[in-house]
Amino acid sequence: MTTKPAISLFQESANVAKMQASSTLAAMQAAEALRSEGVTVFDFGAGEPDFDTPDNIKRAAEEAMRAGKTKYTPTAGTRLVQKSIIDFYEREFGTVYERNEVMTTSGGKQAIFNAVVSLINPGDEVLIAKPYWVTFPEVVAFAGGIPVYIETEETGFVLSAEQVERAITPRTKLNILNSPSNPSGRVIPPDEFRRVMELLSDRGIYVISDECYLRFVYRPAEVFSAASLPGELRSRLCIAGSFSKTYAMTGWRIGYALAPPAWTKAMLKVQGHSTSNANSIAQSAAVEALNGPQDSVAAMLSEYTARRSWLLKALREIPGLVCNDPEGAFYAFPSVKACLGGDLKTSGDFAQRLIEEEQTVVTDGAGFGAEGYLRISYATSMAQLQEGIGRIKRFVERLNNPAAS
Ligand code: PMP
Repeated sequence: MTTKPAISLFQESANVAKMQASSTLAAMQAAEALRSEGVTVFDFGAGEPDFDTPDNIKRAAEEAMRAGKTKYTPTAGTRLVQKSIIDFYEREFGTVYERNEVMTTSGGKQAIFNAVVSLINPGDEVLIAKPYWVTFPEVVAFAGGIPVYIETEETGFVLSAEQVERAITPRTKLNILNSPSNPSGRVIPPDEFRRVMELLSDRGIYVISDECYLRFVYRPAEVFSAASLPGELRSRLCIAGSFSKTYAMTGWRIGYALAPPAWTKAMLKVQGHSTSNANSIAQSAAVEALNGPQDSVAAMLSEYTARRSWLLKALREIPGLVCNDPEGAFYAFPSVKACLGGDLKTSGDFAQRLIEEEQTVVTDGAGFGAEGYLRISYATSMAQLQEGIGRIKRFVERLNNPAAS
């Protein structure tokens, strides 16, 4: 029998010590804890599609395994997956990328990690709009950079060129853009996106455009990629893309980066000494995802569209909740500020009490830099939505009228 040492001698590095555990994971863990006690949970915490990976993609993976595509690939990915990504961007956005500008990664997250650590020096400032996806500031800080936050509440969380301009200093090196946004679901209109890119290009500032939710955009908003901008606005641009949401492939860990050759070369160095290459079988699956039939994407989009309309209407019927129209992704991001008071001081308190009293899980906005807001994911069935939102309504009504309970 082995014995554990009485005290842990392990001391985490200074770099890791300053990292925060993910607040989105905290919501998932809270739901898991309740489930393990046998409690039925209404869970709107998840940032992943509730759909299964389409069959044609699974079949492509099976075939790849049988054909022995189970070895290391080049760091950037196979030629075929690179070509499929290049062809996709040409088809969809009319942009011609060269092979030395394309690499596959273990999820969009690794594309962002590669892009940040290959660019940022200690002390460089990185602009990040609030509310932000939790990983952005953590990766920037890990690389020694300084996250500089841009407040966007005044524009309903839609980033404007004016807001970016106010935040620029001589030390600004990079701006991370994310449209459609996690957590707000908001989309930067294409004209405004272009103005932001013109400004950043004028000032010689690099851009990472996280386009993880690229295809999940609801009318009248339209799919827009920074790839469709003219070449001169893309000379300092890295697009971080992902198969996770579009093709319901979160567990496959496959994404990509599109960036100018020198930036890509630096990212390949980082990846070459960390994960080597994205999973070879997932690369074959990604080829099918891009080249195969797209009807499953359309089916998912139409299901999200129906849930979104139902959810927005239902949220607006809850007194005190205020919610912008999220044009993309699969999140609503209502403010609960009007419901706070007394013991309920923060949106975190709200989320906590909601779990305890109504077994309903939402993610506190504070972790995304937006205290007073909640993220509600509608990547869950309509039946769950109806029950869970009913529970939120009941909870808020009790807050407003405690005597009635
Ligand atoms: N960017 C954003 C905004 C996200 O929400 C996510 C996933 N939650 C990612 C990137 C990364 O996704 P993946 O690594 O699964 O491709």
